[in-house]
Amino acid sequence: MARKATALISWVVALGSTGGSLAFGVAGQHFSYNSLAGATALFLLLALGGLFIHKPNLRIAIATVVPVLLLLAARWSELGHEVSKPSTRTEALYLIAQIVVGLSVALVSRRQLLGNAINVMIDGFIIGLGAWVVMWVTLVHPLLDLPSYTTLTTTLHAATLACTVIVLFLLTTLLFADTAPSTSATFLGLAIVSEVAAIILRSTMSRGDISVSQPTIDAIFLIILGCVATALLHPSLRHLASSSSPRHSPALLTRLVTTTLALIIPVLVVTLTDPKNTNDRLIRTVSISVLALAVMVRVVQSVRQNVSQHNNMMRSAMHDSLTGLPSRVLLLEHVELAVQQSWRTNKQPSVLYIDVDRFKAINDSLGHSTGDAVLTCVSDRLTQCVPEHAIVARISGDEFVVLDPNTETPTQAVLLAEHILDSLRSPIATSDGDTFVTASIGVAYVPKGMHLSADDVLRHADTAMYRAKNAGRNCIALFDDSMLDTVTKRLDIETALYRALERHELHLVHQPIVDIQLGLVVGFEALMRWDRGADGYVAPVDFIPVAEETGTIVPLGSWAIQTALSQLRAWIDTSVCSPSTTMSVNVSPRQLHDPQFVSIVSDALAASGIPAEQLWLEVTESVMISEPTQALSSLRRLHNLGVRIAIDDFGTGYSSLSLLQAFPIECIKVDRSFVQNIATSTETRNLVKTIIAMANALNCDIVAEGIENTEQLRELQGLQCTKAQGYLISKPVNIDDVPSTVRHLQDPDTWKNGAFS
Ligand code: C2E
Ligand code: MG
Ligand code: MG
Repeated sequence: MARKATALISWVVALGSTGGSLAFGVAGQHFSYNSLAGATALFLLLALGGLFIHKPNLRIAIATVVPVLLLLAARWSELGHEVSKPSTRTEALYLIAQIVVGLSVALVSRRQLLGNAINVMIDGFIIGLGAWVVMWVTLVHPLLDLPSYTTLTTTLHAATLACTVIVLFLLTTLLFADTAPSTSATFLGLAIVSEVAAIILRSTMSRGDISVSQPTIDAIFLIILGCVATALLHPSLRHLASSSSPRHSPALLTRLVTTTLALIIPVLVVTLTDPKNTNDRLIRTVSISVLALAVMVRVVQSVRQNVSQHNNMMRSAMHDSLTGLPSRVLLLEHVELAVQQSWRTNKQPSVLYIDVDRFKAINDSLGHSTGDAVLTCVSDRLTQCVPEHAIVARISGDEFVVLDPNTETPTQAVLLAEHILDSLRSPIATSDGDTFVTASIGVAYVPKGMHLSADDVLRHADTAMYRAKNAGRNCIALFDDSMLDTVTKRLDIETALYRALERHELHLVHQPIVDIQLGLVVGFEALMRWDRGADGYVAPVDFIPVAEETGTIVPLGSWAIQTALSQLRAWIDTSVCSPSTTMSVNVSPRQLHDPQFVSIVSDALAASGIPAEQLWLEVTESVMISEPTQALSSLRRLHNLGVRIAIDDFGTGYSSLSLLQAFPIECIKVDRSFVQNIATSTETRNLVKTIIAMANALNCDIVAEGIENTEQLRELQGLQCTKAQGYLISKPVNIDDVPSTVRHLQDPDTWKNGAFS
């Protein structure tokens, strides 16, 4: 509130003083000296009031008030004297005032000059010197011929003008500095500009040939007082002592124009007027030479600054800021060069694409600064363990590339990759304790006589790196052409999958799930099939992972649930199966993270009229491990709908018992890998026995997957496993074959003597 009030008062004072000063300048002869003294006293009181309210630091208070008082004293002593007869006391007072003004400006400007100080000071010097040349020719030298000026008064007067030049220089440095001035600083700047104008006008008057009225000078003094009072009343005075904030756009154009004018005007003045005597010629020559020298220094300085800025920009574009290693652009240049040189030598340059395994987990769990520390350490280790002629680059987040232009065989490159894996084995000390990292390395090389671009080599190494990742990480893969086929095939699947649904290329097949104790079909598992017509059949193992990665599994999975449920409805309605038959549909983690998923399921149930408890959703253990909380909330909502959740491929993942307990699971599907060995290995049989016991303890249903022979079936029956599916019972069948398959499976002859025939 007080801030706003003082800001308002300061602006009123600014307007008032400008109006009053203009009025005084135009009609000064009608005003008495008392009114001038009254106005002066009022401004002084306002200025002191400002100091009292804002209490700036003492140096600022002295630097603003003392010069004003000295200037007033000088002006006061001048009043009543004839201009043509200057007194020594007046000239001395003006000189002292000007020295103090200079010191005050220096005090403020020291704090405002940021990084660019040298150039700003050179520009200020050019302007000051330019002003000096003009003053010398127009003001100082003519004084020497005036009879009313004694040597002392001339010297004092000339010294005052010289000080004015310094003030002008300091003022320019403030104007050109890369800091934005506050309101107070702006008004103090205006006060100084007015003061410089007053001194120059006063000097002009003393020449005798140009007439400037006394009220004009007094009006300028009033403006000075008004500006100082405004500056001291404004709340921004408090921040005058601290460095200002940087300007959004530095005053480059103003600076260029002013500095150019400061060069042109003195040159014009010197060339258009003749020197009066030898001294005059000497001073003109020296001044103009120094001016030319300053301009030259400024130009050299600018060029050097531009070159260093350009170099810095090039360096930061070519190097990674965290590790200082070459960036992708620079690396590609090196690879290109190595490939070209390999034509003339026996070398087969190799590129190692190194990806830090699970770096995201480090970043997410330990924070980005620890992540940065790990990357820096990896970069150091790589640099230390590769040969001196090799180049290490960081091309993105956790991806590094090593180029060895001198390898002669792929084996050497693989050995280097092994050496790198070794170097990463020891723990990395971070502020959060020791961290262990591993890496997956893809190795590619330029075979002799092969035309490969730098991009190709890098892409090959990248492809090989992905192979290493898929092979379980912390390993090396050497590129070969078949990898490119895999990548191309995958890309083809990825693009075709987006269209598969609308082109009706997908359909479901159903594998019966039977109660092996009773010999009844109790459910089906719906399995997706993709027939690309002329492009052939794509197996689920080839397209389901791609669909999961790209997210297309979300619409495909919804379609599967809707289609499977409506199919079950049709079979129940036509008495192909009993009304309590269940439908199992596989669900991938990606679907559980889809916010619409639960409503899609409930809509499909409503549309088909199948009771929720007849829908089994099969999820794998991976759901429980990655982001379990999100999956858990979807599964809980589905469970609340009445839908049942089964754990598919149980035993192949890494789920812990505590996670099993936390999830609303009602069925465990024993993976095919256990069933396969159940008849031959006692350990496996015991393991399955334990899984069945655990399922019973958790009150879960149990289904054995992948039964392929009667021995396996007999073992499972002996272990009291209730349900099973597998090729022995039935392969997944097309919709049209389901009725006959069910009829065959439920025929008592099929289950003769408790065994499948
Ligand atoms: P899954 O859910 O474990 O399905 C069982 C897989 O084992 C099926 O392979 C089935 O044909 C096969 N199988 C069944 N009995 C036997 C047997 O006795 N011996 C052998 N060797 N295999 C048997 P399929 O149809 O190729 O599906 C593979 C996987 O693809 C499925 O494994 C499932 O994870 C996924 N999948 C299939 N359809 C879908 C779907 O609609 N959505 C999602 N998210 N995944 C699906
Ligand atoms: Mg399944
Ligand atoms: Mg399975």
